[in-house]
Amino acid sequence: MTETISVVLPVFNEEAGIKTTIDTLEKFVSKQPEHYELIFVDDGSKDRSVEIINAEVKLHDNIKIVEFSRNFGHQIAITAGLQYTSGDAVVVMDADLQDPPEVIPRMIEKWHQGYDIVYGKREKRDGETIFKKFTAAMFYRTFQKLATINMPLDTGDFRLMNRKVVNQMQRLHEHDPFVRGQVTWIGFKQTSVEYHRHERIAGETKYPLSKMIKLSLDGITSFSMKPLQLVNLFSGLPLLGGLIYLIYLIATGGFTAMTTGITLLLFSLGLIFLSLGIFGSYLGRVLDQVNNRPRFIVRNTVGFDERASSIHH
Ligand code: UDP
Ligand code: MG
Repeated sequence: MTETISVVLPVFNEEAGIKTTIDTLEKFVSKQPEHYELIFVDDGSKDRSVEIINAEVKLHDNIKIVEFSRNFGHQIAITAGLQYTSGDAVVVMDADLQDPPEVIPRMIEKWHQGYDIVYGKREKRDGETIFKKFTAAMFYRTFQKLATINMPLDTGDFRLMNRKVVNQMQRLHEHDPFVRGQVTWIGFKQTSVEYHRHERIAGETKYPLSKMIKLSLDGITSFSMKPLQLVNLFSGLPLLGGLIYLIYLIATGGFTAMTTGITLLLFSLGLIFLSLGIFGSYLGRVLDQVNNRPRFIVRNTVGFDERASSIHH
């Protein structure tokens, strides 16, 4: 029996390149032994992305669209996309061809060898700024030190997961998911294939610094309690410092150093604010979870059978 591979592609304002992506993928899948379904999750694009994909639906019966009611974010788009897949294995990739389709057969080969998850490891990244590469490298290394999971370095969301893993992923209900962390957390037999990450074919990155910071914070706060524990340390420091200073002042009798006092005060205040900030990020997550809002809202779907139309989360 022919295997089916579902490809999940989150799309946000990709009108400049989406046609090329579809053409390239259709050409690629026509040469593969497996059957492919291409699921485009439109994350509230404000440009002509959906229109362009819709036009392609008429030409190719393997294209499906999940249209969000607004921009919910890349990680949620992936999470939603997984729920709409029906393939024996699922591949998640960027809609800008930064993740080359030629890597998919290598992933499938590993899957056939018995691996449940095959992630793409970026051995080279083209066309990305030094700033992006540097901050990404720093993030992955800090994350490894902090997190309770051992996430492989330099991997993004380009990966293959088999049906078992995708089903398990659907049991996770985090509001601000950090998908690559979740996949690591799930376990199973995981391996990697190295690949050369290309420059995006068209348009600008849809990951401005603000979204990168949110992603990093979601990653750390969902998989590490260490920053929270640091708060104890931070609040301990000024207290201890103050105590030592007091003993010193008593011993030397020099209760005059106004400036030192101010410096100490500012220093303590800084630490308190920092601690509050860390608290805030965890509380934010708790609040999101407690609110229990649906994680995304689908406006429309195209190309699915009835089972998929009952999905809501
Ligand atoms: N994307 C999305 N929602 C967003 C931001 C990005 O669905 O809010 C999509 C985007 O269209 C692309 C993928 O997620 O297919 C990765 O984004 P991008 O390529 O801009 O990130 P980069 O590769 O520069 O890190
Ligand atoms: Mg990209």
